[in-house]
Amino acid sequence: MSVNAYRLPTKLLKALAHPARLQILNALRQDEECVCHLTTLLHERQAYVSQQLMFLRQAEVIEDRKDGLRVYYRVKDPRVFEVLDIIYALVGAKGTPSETERIAACPCPKCETRG
Ligand SMILES: [Zn+2]
Repeated sequence: MSVNAYRLPTKLLKALAHPARLQILNALRQDEECVCHLTTLLHERQAYVSQQLMFLRQAEVIEDRKDGLRVYYRVKDPRVFEVLDIIYALVGAKGTPSETERIAACPCPKCETRG
């Protein structure tokens, strides 16, 4: 492969190579989520979370969907989780990290229905 052919895979790997972005992706395993949910999950400011989301979106790992005033993010191609699961296995992480549970303090409409 030419050097140029390695650029896109590198962009994808760089997008994945951040703890906050890995945490976000795990939150998106089962379902799309809104920024306010991800902000609550990460215990970070919304500006910070939006920045990480933008990084993932520019690498085309995630895409967004507007619903009224809310923006929901979802993974474009779920095969990214196969890649991540291999990485977690390589570093000896036990099981698949999941971030899909309801968060008690979360103000998003989905957490309300998660009960
Ligand atoms: Zn929530």
